[in-house]
Amino acid sequence: MLPMLDAVLFDLDNTLIDRERAFRAVVAETFADATTRSDITRVDERGQGDRSALFAYWELHGGGRMDHATLAAKIAERLVPDEQLLAGLRMVSRSKKVGIVTNGGSVGQRLKLRAAGLDQVIPGDHVWISAETGCAKPAPAIFRQACAGLGVAPAAALYVGDHPPHDATGPASAGMRFRIVETSLDAERLARLIREEDSP
Ligand SMILES: [Mg+2]
Repeated sequence: MLPMLDAVLFDLDNTLIDRERAFRAVVAETFADATTRSDITRVDERGQGDRSALFAYWELHGGGRMDHATLAAKIAERLVPDEQLLAGLRMVSRSKKVGIVTNGGSVGQRLKLRAAGLDQVIPGDHVWISAETGCAKPAPAIFRQACAGLGVAPAAALYVGDHPPHDATGPASAGMRFRIVETSLDAERLARLIREEDSP
């Protein structure tokens, strides 16, 4: 039997926020040419592609100077709080510790968190960002740090993410359970997922 679930940790991009939709909106606004748009979306690989290649392509095609912080800020501008999802997360947090483990820069990730209203539900010290922790997914260290910070055993903690190389391998090697989602969560899918993981 699975141990009781004491904590749920989430990935941020494309798990709690629809980063892909926001990214595509930024691309559509920046580039008029359809081929450029689709090429750049491919190079981006849902945020997992080589960043220097993406930024070089961006500048080469007249999108202007681009870097991690600028892109995160542009994405954050297009995020809006999903009130139902926030209510769902609040519900989960009544019976479990809830946190975020994400790879990326400190300023950019926290900008996105705030834009999506997640800072209203998940306390700042329950957020582990690779640039702040000095370790990044899929290394087990960042997951262990988060579990220790929440005071829970990894075996009683679930990680939810969208990118198997980071979000399955990492938590598994830290001794956590994991679930992979195809697209960013809404309230209904969050509730179902927690129900499934909570049932003995
Ligand atoms: Mg992700």
